[in-house]
Amino acid sequence: MIESNFDFDLVVIGAGYGGFDAAKHASENGMRVAIIESREMGGTCVNRGCVPSKALLAASGKVREMADAKHLLDFGIHAAPVRFERQKIADHANNLVEAIRNNLTKTLERSGVTIIRAQGRLEGPQRVGLREKNGVDRVITARDVIIATGSDPFIPPGIETDGRTVFTSDQAINLEWLPRWIAIIGSGYIGLEFADVYTALGCEVTMIEALDRVMPTFDPDIAKLAARNLIDSRDIDARSGVLASKIKPGSPVRIELSDVKTREFSEELEVDAVLVATGRVPTSNGLNLGSMNVETNRGFVPIDDQMRVLFKGKPIPYLWAVGDVTGKLMLAHTAAAQGTIAVENILGNSRSIDYRSIPAATFTHPEISSVGLSEEDAKKLATEKDFSLGSVRSYFKANSKALAELESDGLMKLLFRKDNGEVLGAHIYGLHAADLIQEVANAIARHQSVLDLVNEVHTHPTLSEVVEVAYKQAAKLVKSS
Ligand SMILES: Cc1cc2nc3c(=O)[nH]c(=O)nc-3n(C[C@H](O)[C@H](O)[C@H](O)COP(=O)(O)OP(=O)(O)OC[C@H]3O[C@@H](n4cnc5c(N)ncnc54)[C@H](O)[C@@H]3O)c2cc1C
Repeated sequence: MIESNFDFDLVVIGAGYGGFDAAKHASENGMRVAIIESREMGGTCVNRGCVPSKALLAASGKVREMADAKHLLDFGIHAAPVRFERQKIADHANNLVEAIRNNLTKTLERSGVTIIRAQGRLEGPQRVGLREKNGVDRVITARDVIIATGSDPFIPPGIETDGRTVFTSDQAINLEWLPRWIAIIGSGYIGLEFADVYTALGCEVTMIEALDRVMPTFDPDIAKLAARNLIDSRDIDARSGVLASKIKPGSPVRIELSDVKTREFSEELEVDAVLVATGRVPTSNGLNLGSMNVETNRGFVPIDDQMRVLFKGKPIPYLWAVGDVTGKLMLAHTAAAQGTIAVENILGNSRSIDYRSIPAATFTHPEISSVGLSEEDAKKLATEKDFSLGSVRSYFKANSKALAELESDGLMKLLFRKDNGEVLGAHIYGLHAADLIQEVANAIARHQSVLDLVNEVHTHPTLSEVVEVAYKQAAKLVKSS
């Protein structure tokens, strides 16, 4: 317990994964904690992100598999035509959201955290203003304050949304209807996951990407293979280098496309619906950050690796920020890790985050995952630090388990230092890639060399042998260099 005259030892603004982990960890360590939430407990991940989207992907993935007569016939299975009920799939997602939200709320209550339902804001050092739904406005004090206010969908200028025919992931997760033809703006992980859901459920998709290739944020080799299966072989017309410059909701929805470089009008599309998946913006407006001299970077709150909020590069005492609002690897597990680290530092146990070892996954069928450096960044590091970069590929088509599953289209790329074998990054496309990446993430966190990793025995037959093969190939190159 921190002895103080403050109302609380710690006040956390925002009860998403970042805020939740921070509040729980602080309370379990004897601090008097309040968490302030203006919407649903659990934030984006639980209510509008990871949880419902993965429930939709699980259900639609089963539909896809059962509807793939050729795939089933290759196992000798004759399946009846598959039927599904859209509302029941939507209910599955909603029920899961409710269950996880209730569990999370109860966990906080059991840990002794005070939950305050209000809009929070800073009111100068160690003071937090609260506006409750009934209009009551008050100020509470805390020794430390953590900002964990997350992010919201970004809607580019020229795009109008109505939540029904033109919408973001916030509405898409409700699966209120299945448009015959839907345009998805953006080919990042959110656009790809929803394209997976919609095509499995029989919708036709047009994917519009402003950058010069689809899946621009993924490793180019992985993206090439993944796009062949996840886009080209499906009912998806993907266009890159094209800007959706104007979108008007209605029936039909009208989309004006223009050339990214010249900005000249190129085409008009008429579709039944549009999902805008063009990234996310920090939720930092209205936080009164000026009262603490915080200067944001396009709304993102600047922090150091210990989660201390910075002003002109120097930490502001007792003020911390975690999660999407900081703009670092905007993922639920990053937010949670940052939350725990912030509290550890408040408790006086100096801890820093290692972003390089945090994995990321896209839960398409099959999945895509990555951890560590991109090949481009690894090359830059190799030049800077004067070592040669190793890169090996391990294919799922050489893996017994993948072959048994008739899911052998997959690739893992491993990046490592040739001088000492240290693993720098991995990029995987293939069955259960999201699970496979964890092993490499752990190796990166421990700065392990493929020379040690190669001695670790992997279960046969499992997909993990794809990783083992990569380590073996890499170790040979390190030894011979
Ligand atoms: C469709 C989709 C799928 C995703 N899938 C995955 C996935 O599979 N895996 C993964 O790791 N990540 C996924 N993400 C990302 C993940 O949801 C976010 O990274 C994560 O939710 C960030 O957590 P956070 O705590 O920073 O913020 P949030 O979860 O956004 O929570 C912030 C909370 O703060 C509250 N708040 C904001 N301002 C105030 C205020 N002034 N006062 C009080 N409360 C306030 C908000 O209401 C919100 O509840 C997905 C996101 C989306 C949109």
